[in-house]
Amino acid sequence: MRIATINCGSSSLKADVLDSSTGDRVLRLRAQRVGDAEASVRWDDAPAQPLGSRPLEDVLGELLPMLFERAGAVDAVGHRVVHGGDRFVRPTLIDDAVVQAIDELTPLAPLHNPANHAGIVAARLALPSVPHVAVFDTAFHTTLPSRARHYAIDPTLLPQARRFGFHGTSHGYVARTAAAALDAPLESLRVITCHLGNGASICAVENGRSVETSMGMTPLEGLVMGTRSGDIDPGLILQLLRGGRDIDAVDTLLNRKSGLAGVSGTSGDMRDIERRAAEGDERCRLALKLFAHRLRKYIGAYAAAMGGVDAIVFTAGIGENSPGIRHRVAQRLDFLGARLDEDLNRDAKVGAQTPVFDISDPTSRVKLLVVATDEARAIAEHTAAIAEHHDDVAETKTIPIAVSARHIHLTQDAVEALFGAGHQLTPRNDLSQPGQFACEETLTVVGPKRSLEKVRVLGPTRPKNQIEVSRTDEFWLGVDAPVRRSGHVANSPGVTLQGPAGSLTLTEGLICAARHIHMTPQDAADFGVDNGDIVEVRINSEDRDLVFGDVLIRVSPKYALEMHVDTDEANAAELSRRDEGMLVATKGTARLTHRERR
Ligand code: ADP
Repeated sequence: MRIATINCGSSSLKADVLDSSTGDRVLRLRAQRVGDAEASVRWDDAPAQPLGSRPLEDVLGELLPMLFERAGAVDAVGHRVVHGGDRFVRPTLIDDAVVQAIDELTPLAPLHNPANHAGIVAARLALPSVPHVAVFDTAFHTTLPSRARHYAIDPTLLPQARRFGFHGTSHGYVARTAAAALDAPLESLRVITCHLGNGASICAVENGRSVETSMGMTPLEGLVMGTRSGDIDPGLILQLLRGGRDIDAVDTLLNRKSGLAGVSGTSGDMRDIERRAAEGDERCRLALKLFAHRLRKYIGAYAAAMGGVDAIVFTAGIGENSPGIRHRVAQRLDFLGARLDEDLNRDAKVGAQTPVFDISDPTSRVKLLVVATDEARAIAEHTAAIAEHHDDVAETKTIPIAVSARHIHLTQDAVEALFGAGHQLTPRNDLSQPGQFACEETLTVVGPKRSLEKVRVLGPTRPKNQIEVSRTDEFWLGVDAPVRRSGHVANSPGVTLQGPAGSLTLTEGLICAARHIHMTPQDAADFGVDNGDIVEVRINSEDRDLVFGDVLIRVSPKYALEMHVDTDEANAAELSRRDEGMLVATKGTARLTHRERR
């Protein structure tokens, strides 16, 4: 497929048109210093042309239609979006709601998301007939385990005060490229990827999943960068504020005047710093030492976090082009079994033709690799994968999952037998399915072996009594209950219920509920399923991905989209309350997703 990729910054526009299967570039556009009198644009290798001092939106409105016209038939457009927050965990087909959500995420990435948003709006206007896909920098890191996601502060303080991580498109791409070069499945490797550009971050990729990364809630945390400080004692920020600097001044200091630039007193360009350090400039020498030391420290930490490492990857401007930095970093990694071959390190050159260069010594247990990152290509691959299926809403629509604890449905007669004549159920809280509620009333379920106390009654009353328990509950009670859909209790085991006003022995009614998805007819049409269909749903959980088979589809205009599983099933998939599943296959048709395992 011919894919246009758009990476729109606040004062720059990078656009490429490429063939998604080969990665070959058809067209390249680079605009810089947009908004400034010096703004210019370059098409492929032609000389730069002035753009004049115009706002970004104007420039996009002019250049993007030209891009699409010059490129010929573009099949889809992929957009780099820096922040996807909690909401976007994978590349996503763009519709109006997605555009709005990206805009709403601006507080998390005030410098980046507005420009990404502007690029999407202009590109959809210029080329409305093809699918547009948002590829999020944060998405690759949505697999971070909670221990790597949280800061050690009160988690209720600020909902967004958690670690998101960035550069995910690059980390994922170079990890996959490295695995392919090593001829090993990424799922079997522990890889540390070092993305060292003007912005720099490092990522621990364990079995294909990001499990640690150095950037956090914002791209300021972590490594020493071109102009960003990376890790710093929060107490130092307090000191600066107490010393009279205002918040904007501290922001500028840490984001634009620190890192390599701040330490060395230069612009922060590694080439300059290496040159000046070689000439004896002490501040540049210190900058190099700090940069390499922090990176080495992180590599050691990430190897510890994964219990070892199979490959260390250097990528982006510095990682690909600076043998000096690679040498400094690798110097003391012998204890990990990582040994550099100095000649190979000096000779390493990567690019489109040679994307991977092995710089490890033959005795090295850990592979040291230089890998050319290509974010445009990565975005094009993700975009093509989604665009090929863009009619298939099911590919991008997730299903919220609710965990049902054991509960009881009663007839009005049973309510009166257990709670007293004329008793009406007392609603306690509404449930997600419209009209359903949990009641104040609870009962004891008495089985042949043991009892379960305080089992919640759900309302309203129903034509049949029904007790829904998990497999673990059955073992406890000493009953074998069949897996049944709700309402189908014929020939199920009976059980005794004990309430405050009496007990009731039922001849049938105990079931283990068949896992199911409630949905509206519109949801069913979107997923391409009918009432009664049996499907598979994949759960991407923190450490225990799981595919549930035998999931029953239940369609009614009265339902809200939600999958119901019991507590055993939720525990097996380590589901948290806010998890979602993805419909991956319909029984009989084996319609599997194109999406790679994340
Ligand atoms: P970004 O995409 O984050 O703006 P890049 O990946 O282009 O950044 O990396 C820019 C950094 O790479 C700069 O610090 C630059 O000095 C450095 N770099 C590029 N080429 C070399 C080189 N030959 N030697 C050392 N550093 C280099």
